[in-house]
Amino acid sequence: MSGESEVDGGNNGNVKRSFAQHIFAPIKITWDQFVDLVIPFYHSQHIRRHAASVTISRVQLMSAIFGILVPMLSIIDWFVFPWPQWAMMTALRVASGAIFFLLAWPWETEKTRFQADAMLMAMLLVPPVFYLLSIRIVEPLQLTEFGQLVAKLYSLMPNIVLAGLAMFPLTAFEVVIFAAPAFIFAVVGLFMEGQVLSLQVHGPALWLMVLVMGVAMFSGMSQLHYMSALVNKAMIDPLTQAYTRRSGNETIELLFRLSALQNTPLSVAFFDLDKFKSINDTYGHEEGDKALRTLSDKLKAGLRKGDVLVRWGGEEFIAILNNTDAPGARVVIERLREAGFGLRPDGAPLTASIGLAERIEDQMPDWAHLVEKADSRMYQAKKSGRDRAIFPGDVVLAFSQAPA
Ligand code: GH3
Ligand code: MG
Ligand code: MG
Repeated sequence: MSGESEVDGGNNGNVKRSFAQHIFAPIKITWDQFVDLVIPFYHSQHIRRHAASVTISRVQLMSAIFGILVPMLSIIDWFVFPWPQWAMMTALRVASGAIFFLLAWPWETEKTRFQADAMLMAMLLVPPVFYLLSIRIVEPLQLTEFGQLVAKLYSLMPNIVLAGLAMFPLTAFEVVIFAAPAFIFAVVGLFMEGQVLSLQVHGPALWLMVLVMGVAMFSGMSQLHYMSALVNKAMIDPLTQAYTRRSGNETIELLFRLSALQNTPLSVAFFDLDKFKSINDTYGHEEGDKALRTLSDKLKAGLRKGDVLVRWGGEEFIAILNNTDAPGARVVIERLREAGFGLRPDGAPLTASIGLAERIEDQMPDWAHLVEKADSRMYQAKKSGRDRAIFPGDVVLAFSQAPA
């Protein structure tokens, strides 16, 4: 959903969109991008993965800091609380420190969105739980003035958690979800202290929490926006809007691993346009660029939602067909060829030589071999006459008798 969507819900959609475009113009953000900042459900795989990896590394950083600070602050408890309260507080601090330590540990994992969310939630839950337990511990004490101050500071814990959310690239929706425990614990804390929730007494504190959450939300959304812009810039080829080779590498590596794990087929189709250089030579680079844009649009329109189109080189594209065996890929390629790859400036149809490789049938050990195999079949298609596709088992699909 990142980038401008061409699909409008009729006139109504147009009005809504142009109104939004007008409002967002000063901060250079489209309506679709704005939606992506509010809810996370339409994010692309790349944004998802990057947000997860940024979130995990920041959780690790913050956990490492807290893992040291929280146990260290026992020193204050020793001055403030008598036995056995200081010992209980210290035990609580060591336990919290241990959880932070586990969160900070550089485990070798896939860094999924789910893992990022779980780690963030775990980190956010430690301070409020700490706060509730500390209420129980100091409850029986008649505290000195300093002790009361320290206990009051603990009750600021939920605000610290909310402020901490500002460090993460989150949508507004996610900020609310992650902030919810802080609000719940703050209210539960009041009840545990024997207080009754009253707008008069607790209104200002709750309002402050809402404000802190609002600031965190703004910060989280702008971080997400900034991150998405950078990721898209690195991931999307500006001329054709296909994925760049770099992001294509990442994607195919991931899909290959998943397909090997689940033992599902994975096809790669390698396209190289026929006699493309002559377009540049005869009609100029501009016309060549236009042809490339048309080709990319045509290929994207013909592929399914889960397929990925990558601009591999100048006029070479690969289509990664997830969960598709060679016969399935043949159907896709026939359909693409049927729809055409666009026209040359002289009106003749643009054709391509296509090589197809499939993970299982070609017994490929890794993604690099898979692409190489598709590339070599494309080369075979070139050599044997162009405008054709070659499949595993030397199956040739010649579309026309184009001159070699
Ligand atoms: P064939 O593949 O059929 O053997 O002939 P070809 O003319 O297509 O040969 P080749 O694949 O080697 O040529 C690729 C040409 O693509 C070279 C270059 O002029 C052109 N090209 C590569 N990138 C771009 C680009 O971004 N814009 C334009 N206009 N042309 C490009
Ligand atoms: Mg080429
Ligand atoms: Mg070519």
